[in-house]
Amino acid sequence: MGAFAITARDADSRARAGVLSTLHGDVDTPAFVPLATKGFVRGVAPSEVAGLGYQMVLGNTFHLFLAPGHELIQRAGGLHGFSGWPGPIITDSGGFQIFSMGHGTVADEIKGRAPSGPERAGAVLAVEESGVRFRSYLDGAERELTPELSMAVQSALGSDIALVLDECTPFHISREQTARSSERTHRWLERCLAWHADHGRPSQLVYGIVQGGVHEDLRRQSAALVADSGSAGIAIGGSLGREKEQMHEIVGWATAELGDGHESKPRHLLGIGEIDDLIAGVELGIDTFDCAMPTRLGRHGVALVADPDARWRVNLHGARWGESREPVMGGCPCPTCAAGHTRAWLRHLLHQREPLAGRLLTLHNLAFVARVMGNLRAAIARGRLSQTAAALRAGAAP
Ligand SMILES: [Zn+2]
Repeated sequence: MGAFAITARDADSRARAGVLSTLHGDVDTPAFVPLATKGFVRGVAPSEVAGLGYQMVLGNTFHLFLAPGHELIQRAGGLHGFSGWPGPIITDSGGFQIFSMGHGTVADEIKGRAPSGPERAGAVLAVEESGVRFRSYLDGAERELTPELSMAVQSALGSDIALVLDECTPFHISREQTARSSERTHRWLERCLAWHADHGRPSQLVYGIVQGGVHEDLRRQSAALVADSGSAGIAIGGSLGREKEQMHEIVGWATAELGDGHESKPRHLLGIGEIDDLIAGVELGIDTFDCAMPTRLGRHGVALVADPDARWRVNLHGARWGESREPVMGGCPCPTCAAGHTRAWLRHLLHQREPLAGRLLTLHNLAFVARVMGNLRAAIARGRLSQTAAALRAGAAP
């Protein structure tokens, strides 16, 4: 189908720039994909997300399946018609959210996706060959998600890219347990692809998911198996270890395995989006990323700034900003900074629990990440990725 065209490669790393083509438009890669988990990016209108330069958003099968339900969304014209987002949409399969209810892990924390709030009230009841049974966090009812149902839901949602249902394991289980779980995920991959071949929309791209935990041989086997399957693209998921160095190593095993003959399949890294991880992921050959980080931090009063020593963050709750006339970030062209809003005023909004604060900081954070990705894309095209990556890591403003 030729859904993905590589337009430039970096000489010193596995990085590549490209264009991912979908029914609802193109995505220039490498790209960050903001979360529209429940069919909306929290606090920000679809037109504003597009205005920041984003071309694709990610919706979540699990949450949309529970509320308002995929049949309702299908009757409303699919997720595109329902939400008013005209561009490409990728949907997560629901596996990660279900399994997060069962085991919050350190890996979740690294990924910025630690389960919190109502999800904690749900529970995995059983993982069986047929699928996974769980208790709904909404009403306590027992529900089951099978590979086929996940694909049917994603077909009803009308997403441009669907992810197969996978079993996510915590990092602390044994190698044998991880191996058995990966094998089940591979059988579920075949069932998802079979359902899609028989019932799915030909225009919907299906990505398989590489599992294998923190074990090199299992990761490599899983990557090779997913690459050899009929999937249109490859997502890397599951436990990516305890710390960043391990995560980069694990992603590197997978993309190394995808080198020969599988270059043309687009690669998505699930749930990773801190600034240094985006840079490292691009160097490892990842094409798209999604993560709650920029939007979640914004809602909690934390802004992204060019300060690697502070993990690119500044907390605007702090008393030191009480009389600050500074914008969130000098020279930032985002709507919040361009309007001249000061740190002192934003801090005041936060202390008044005014939702506008979260909205303005979400706009800034998404704009910041969009510029980081734009810088990396441009650098790959100009053959200057190593210089641009080094500058960003040293605190250059994107
Ligand atoms: Zn800004």
